[in-house]
Parts: sequence; C-alpha cells; structure tokens
Amino acid sequence: MLKIENIKTFYGNIQALHDVSIEVKEGEIITLIGANGAGKSTTLMSISGIEPPRSGKIFFEGKEITGMDPDKIVSLGIIQVPEGRRIFPFLTVRENLDMGAFLREDKEEIKRDIEYVFNLFPILAERKNQAGGTLSGGEQQMLAISRALMAKPRLLLLDEPSLGLAPIIVQQIMSIIKKVNTENKTTIFLVEQNANLALKIADRGYVMETGRITMQDSAANLRENGEVRKAYLGI
Ligand code: ATP
Repeated sequence: MLKIENIKTFYGNIQALHDVSIEVKEGEIITLIGANGAGKSTTLMSISGIEPPRSGKIFFEGKEITGMDPDKIVSLGIIQVPEGRRIFPFLTVRENLDMGAFLREDKEEIKRDIEYVFNLFPILAERKNQAGGTLSGGEQQMLAISRALMAKPRLLLLDEPSLGLAPIIVQQIMSIIKKVNTENKTTIFLVEQNANLALKIADRGYVMETGRITMQDSAANLRENGEVRKAYLGI
C-alpha cells in the first residue's frame, strides 16, 4: 500500500533521515519505534508531504506521492494524527469531528461514522458539546484519533498517541487502535516510544536510530530480540 524508498529528509543543512525504506501492506499495523530525536516524526511528515524528502521516492497504492502537496495527499486517504494532539480547543467535540469530515459530502455516512466513533469512545459522546480544550489529555487524544477517522483514512498515521498519558488510558487507546484496524480495515502506521505496547498490537515493526532503519521484523520477533529488549523494552 505504501512504499518508501531510500528517502533523505533535511532540515536546512541537517540531514534527519538517511536512506529510509519502509513498506506497509494493506490491512496491517506497522510500528516505527526509536528513541527521542531518532527521526520518527520526520518520517511521518515526509509521507504526509509536510517535510518532503530531498531524494528517494514514496509510493501510495502504486502512485508516486513524493513532493505532492499535503492537501492532495490527504485527499488520497493518508491522514495523520500529529504528536501533541492539536485538536481545535475552542470548538466543541462535535465540531472537531465535523472538521475531520470537511472534505466529505456523504451526509448519511458521516452520521454513521459519528455514531461509530462515539461507540469507540463513549466519553466523547458524553462530552460532545464541550470545548475540545477542556478535555483531559487522554480525551483529547481520543478526539484527535476520532477526528482523523472522520476523514475515512485508508492509511492512518499516528504520531506517539501514548505521549504523556496515564498507563491505563494508553492501554485503552492502543486496544482501540487495534479494533479500528480489525473492524474498520484501516491500515495503520504507528510511531511510538512505548515500544512494548506498540509491538503488542503491531504486525511488523521497524527500529530507527539517528535517522536510519537499523532493524525490521515481525512484531513478535522484535519483542523477543535481545537488543530490542535491552534498548527499548527495559528488560
Ligand atoms: P520525538 O520522539 O522526540 O518526536 P522523533 O524520533 O520523532 O523524536 P524527529 O522529531 O523526527 O524525531 O527529529 C529527528 C531529528 O531532526 C532530530 O535531530 C531533531 O532535532 C531534528 N528536527 C526535527 N524537527 C526539526 C526542525 N523543525 N528543524 C530542525 N531540526 C529538526
């Protein structure tokens, strides 16, 4: 579904990504794990067109998307939930969800999708008339994911959904990500520092260190890998 081939991405003169290659198959969850500053967010921003790579190529469903405008990439069905959530704080929960669907015209289906996300996260239904900025961190993450789902993603890019949240909320969010993948057939590219949980829900994983992919394998094998256990799982 997504094929990243040898991309190099720079911030000015600083090279953040060095020949990164990643493949995502339709229907799977892949996770990209790595320490702070490894280049995980830059990888997502290269895919979504916000930080286009200087060289290398990115294909989505066989079509080259390298250098395409971010809004065009969104219209193909690649939807990113950025790190730090970034919902609209002064809009209500319901209005935030409507914003996620702004490119759609299928009114009846939008209604059904709102019901679907309220089913996934009943707390959002309870708070639907409340301003987004008044929600807790975990609820804002739920809203950010739900808003992205309202855009009917074919490929959902999630940047550290666990960041700064209590363990119990993180577990809840991870199991809902898995549910969206299995029930909704949404393909998921999950960037995480919480390697333990990410590798539990993912099919395959990639490890990134200082802008390079250093390992790739099934999530099950990575969980058993001695180096991964030591560096990322704290075992
Ligand atoms: P984190 O988990 O902290 O978000 P990350 O793995 O997502 O880390 P990136 O945010 O992609 O890492 O950063 C990769 C490298 O690029 C880092 O060295 C970082 O300092 C640098 N970098 C990121 N954004 C910018 C920017 N806007 N300008 C300059 N350098 C940047």
